[in-house]
Amino acid sequence: MHGRTYTADATPGEAVTVAGWIHETRDLGGIAFLILRDKTGRIQVKLEKDEMDEAMVETGLDAHRESVLRVEGDVKEEPRAPTGVEVVPTAIEVVAPADPELPLDPSGKVDAELPTRLDNRTLDLRKPEVQAVFEIRAELLRAVREAFRSHDATEINTPKIVATGTEGGTELFPISYFGEEAFMNQSPQLFKQLMAGSNLERVFEIGPIFRAEEHNTPRHLNEAHSIDFEGAFCDHTEAMDVAEAVTTAAYEAVAEHCAEELETLGLADDFAVPSGDFPRLSYQDALDRVNATGELDEHLVWGDDLSTEAEHVLGQEVGEHYFITDWPSEVKPFYIKDHDDDAETSTGFDMMHPRMELVSGGQREHRHDELIAGFEQQGLDPEEFEYYTKMFRYGMPPHAGWGMGCERLLMTMLGLDNIREAVLFPRDRQRLSP
Ligand code: ATP
Ligand code: MG
Repeated sequence: MHGRTYTADATPGEAVTVAGWIHETRDLGGIAFLILRDKTGRIQVKLEKDEMDEAMVETGLDAHRESVLRVEGDVKEEPRAPTGVEVVPTAIEVVAPADPELPLDPSGKVDAELPTRLDNRTLDLRKPEVQAVFEIRAELLRAVREAFRSHDATEINTPKIVATGTEGGTELFPISYFGEEAFMNQSPQLFKQLMAGSNLERVFEIGPIFRAEEHNTPRHLNEAHSIDFEGAFCDHTEAMDVAEAVTTAAYEAVAEHCAEELETLGLADDFAVPSGDFPRLSYQDALDRVNATGELDEHLVWGDDLSTEAEHVLGQEVGEHYFITDWPSEVKPFYIKDHDDDAETSTGFDMMHPRMELVSGGQREHRHDELIAGFEQQGLDPEEFEYYTKMFRYGMPPHAGWGMGCERLLMTMLGLDNIREAVLFPRDRQRLSP
């Protein structure tokens, strides 16, 4: 709309055109107020019944809540108005009417359950606290991209329709590809490794991953966004450095650029940017620390995966972001390299928030014959992955990397209860639309 001014930019003394949604109508008799809302906030529009054009006043008062209005008028200082200014209108136009019955109340006076919110995301995103989550998500992604660029990584995009899965068949969504079976990719793992062996050397990707997780949990989606890194000539410790730096950069950027959004979410006072130097516990140390608390019924032994409960206990213990390193080889996928001096332990690591896992990574097996052996041990047919394994015969440098769940980073950063709040249109067992 040409010549439209954001409500936040309306300055006393100016003639403006503002446009937005009717947040609220307050009819006090001789005088009435429309509160108009847009991307930047709200502004009061004053209607004086006896002194203004009757038809114009009627247009404003007849329009239902959440209708879109275009208002021309003069901006005046008004200490009693919510933002200290108001618009005295000279023309009002209904740009798009709203039904009187709304499935969800964007003013937030009536709480809505999450499914209702997700079914009506447009209306839900008219609430400042929901808008704030997605403004912060955008800033997080911007900062992550910038952090990767400062680490010499090149952004890539890899296919999401693939012939084979990386980590076995159980979590794959099959699709029909011109009559042939194909799958939605569960991870860019193999493709990013192939690019680490190219002149790009250090690459990152931010893209969707698809996982046919059977369980409905507050931290799993069937379509998530993965922030992936892979670097040639990196070992696992350098990959951890990058994970730490990217995470810290995201927090710093949000602290610096999203003060208003944090305020809206009630987080302004206790938003803590992590130290940038996360404790690195070995897997064995992690087991010992969990066992020492005596809070779990079971005693954890070498080879056990950490249950959600164990992760929780450990998170309480450590109290900040941390790494779990040196996982048993048998627990980690075949493409993770074992330690040279100990085939029982791998270079695999996880980066944890006290609430949950955010990252898995490690140094990769770059030696062709060892890689083939890994496929076989995992029960995968290396022939099916020949497009990948053959490149390991043409000069594949040592490399390392990781994948981080974007929604998990956001939900832990903002203390969201459910991962579905961190994505616009979640895909889960019950939800395929919208
Ligand atoms: P978990 O054990 O927590 O289910 P995972 O170990 O299966 O996760 P990875 O394959 O290691 O997951 O994927 C790397 C990262 O991607 C995870 O640490 C997590 O942040 C994110 N991620 C993986 N699966 C999902 C999912 N279904 N929904 C949301 N994020 C996911
Ligand atoms: Mg993992």
